[in-house]
Amino acid sequence: MTVLFASTATHAYEKARARMVREQLEPRGVTDPAVLAAMNRVPRHCFVDDALCSQAYGDFSLPIGEGQTISQPYVVALMTQLLGLAGTERVLEIGTGCGYQTAVLAALCERVYTVERIKSLHARARRAFDKLHIFNVTGKIDDGTLGWPEHGPYDAIIVTAAGPSVPEPLVAQLADPGVMVIPVGERGNQKLVMVRKQDGEVAERFVEDVKFVSLIGDHGWQV
Ligand code: SAH
Repeated sequence: MTVLFASTATHAYEKARARMVREQLEPRGVTDPAVLAAMNRVPRHCFVDDALCSQAYGDFSLPIGEGQTISQPYVVALMTQLLGLAGTERVLEIGTGCGYQTAVLAALCERVYTVERIKSLHARARRAFDKLHIFNVTGKIDDGTLGWPEHGPYDAIIVTAAGPSVPEPLVAQLADPGVMVIPVGERGNQKLVMVRKQDGEVAERFVEDVKFVSLIGDHGWQV
């Protein structure tokens, strides 16, 4: 009986995921087949609290505790697509949160290095990776605005919290060529920016208006 119930629930989540891809991602311009496949495969409901599982595939962000949120599926897919991953990259993520974005990246690159400043979120994400047998993620608890110099430079960097400017250590740890996606602006109202390093030049381009929680640290907001 339990088994039947579990498989029915799994099937329902699979259907919800396929609908999310069809209705929220494809119509808004997420077209990279590898990104769509990853979004179709990674079980977002495994990263949210049990009480929110039924809403995991909705077109919105959700609370993950500690005043933080898991981004809307479209924003996760858009940011991932902008990185243009081919499978061989080493990616630095700042703001592990519940680990959902990390898991999507892990499906598309060689290794993800992820930094989270809140201990309980770091631990929660670790549990989810273990449960889902995601082994190409290395995480630590620290101020991610300082990057993670030991493992750099990184082919791609993604920041999932918004600060007042692009942290200088992250630009320094970006490989050449390399690409970074980061929300920048005021608290509660920011612009998603794509930073590209090529031939020693660093260029920024605006992508779209977004709303993220605050990036707190030495090169972010001071609490
Ligand atoms: N990608 C996450 C989004 C979580 S919200 C997910 O899918 O769940 C952004 C996260 O950034 C929060 O967990 C917050 O604690 C974290 N954060 C904020 N400032 C940070 C910093 N300086 N270093 C590391 N993590 C930070």
